Amino acid sequence: MNTTTKTQLPLGGKPQKGLYEVTKKGYYGEFGGAYIPEMLYPNVEELRQNYLEIMADSSFKKEFDQLLKDYVGRPSPLYFAERLSQKYNTKIYLKREDLNHTGAHKVNNTIGQILMAKRLGKTRIIAETGAGQHGVATATVCALMGIQCVVYMGEIDIARQAPNVARMKMLGAEVRPALSGSRTLKDATNEAIRDWINNPVDTHYIIGSAIGPHPYPDLVTRFQSIISEEIKWQLQEKEGRKNPDFVVACVGGGSNAAGSYYHFLHEKEVGIIAVEAAGKGIDSGESAATSALGKVGIIHGCKTLLMQTDDGQITEPYSISAGLDYPGVGPMHAQLYQSGRAEFISITDEEAMQAGMLLSKLEGIIPAIESSHAFAIFESHKFNPDDVVVVTLSGRGDKDLQTYIDYFKL
Ligand SMILES: *Cc1c(COP(=O)(O)O)cnc(C)c1O
Repeated sequence: MNTTTKTQLPLGGKPQKGLYEVTKKGYYGEFGGAYIPEMLYPNVEELRQNYLEIMADSSFKKEFDQLLKDYVGRPSPLYFAERLSQKYNTKIYLKREDLNHTGAHKVNNTIGQILMAKRLGKTRIIAETGAGQHGVATATVCALMGIQCVVYMGEIDIARQAPNVARMKMLGAEVRPALSGSRTLKDATNEAIRDWINNPVDTHYIIGSAIGPHPYPDLVTRFQSIISEEIKWQLQEKEGRKNPDFVVACVGGGSNAAGSYYHFLHEKEVGIIAVEAAGKGIDSGESAATSALGKVGIIHGCKTLLMQTDDGQITEPYSISAGLDYPGVGPMHAQLYQSGRAEFISITDEEAMQAGMLLSKLEGIIPAIESSHAFAIFESHKFNPDDVVVVTLSGRGDKDLQTYIDYFKL
């Protein structure tokens, strides 16, 4: 039985020219690249020139593997959800990222990036956060390593997400309010970029999803690809085959999805399903269904699909789940959408909330509302009885309890 978390292919492998793997210049088809102010170029370039080599280094891999095992608690189980499977008459496995330390997949990436920052000689970490989940995952690894941490967060978000702000403070991070613009994620990102421009030598900027200028989408995807790497050997143990018929994940910026798909991208028999947040309905004007509604544009340093007005202003997204409430999508997903390699499904708040309640009742697992979106597809999407469908349960629902309480009047 293979119970190690030894990472194989993706860390440091040569980037392959292809549709779904990034090219040397950072493109997935027409998407990706690095559209950044010139002042930021040295920082991003230093990372670009070094990241593959650092990841390929055996001592790096060893430290990454060890921390994933002993600190994060990997491998995360691949759990056969028997009662859910019976209900929908197909074989459903859950990839339990909710059981990771800090309660979601985000820590896979922050562990990887802090190790990378150390290898680059950085002594200070900055990050931006909207709902606070990425801020907490970053503050956690900074505490672990004893490295100074500054998290930028919109003033409005600070007020909305008090428990996560408290967590970051307990973990020793400084939470700096972004006071300009709409005082939310976009403004926090601008502040973080400004900070990085002013502190190019000692600071590393940890981006929290498979977005941003090249090499970030590839970097984050490689760290998160531990998810699909484990699914392969876990499925081999349970089903006698490495590939599921379908792999399903929710998409905010796209990191848990990219990690869940990575080792299946070139396996044609594996269907890839991406689930986006339709909010109050795709045509309601209050949604975050980026691919369905998006047009090509530039956001946070990369060319991708994003929700925008006819004259190119980014539209304010909406979803009941803070983690999916993002107007763009990572460039790999834009390419998966445009090429038809992945099927994109959008799920409303109502459908997601019902699916979260159902999973709680049927399996004793209260999911994050982001993850609930992925489970909601079974209501409308029929699978064959012998299909093996792996769904990534990206996070646990503790953080969303108040939203569940208010929604269902519990
Ligand atoms: C942040 C978050 C997401 C969305 O982020 P991705 O980068 O798209 O994975 C999904 N689920 C949970 C639990 C999250 O915390």
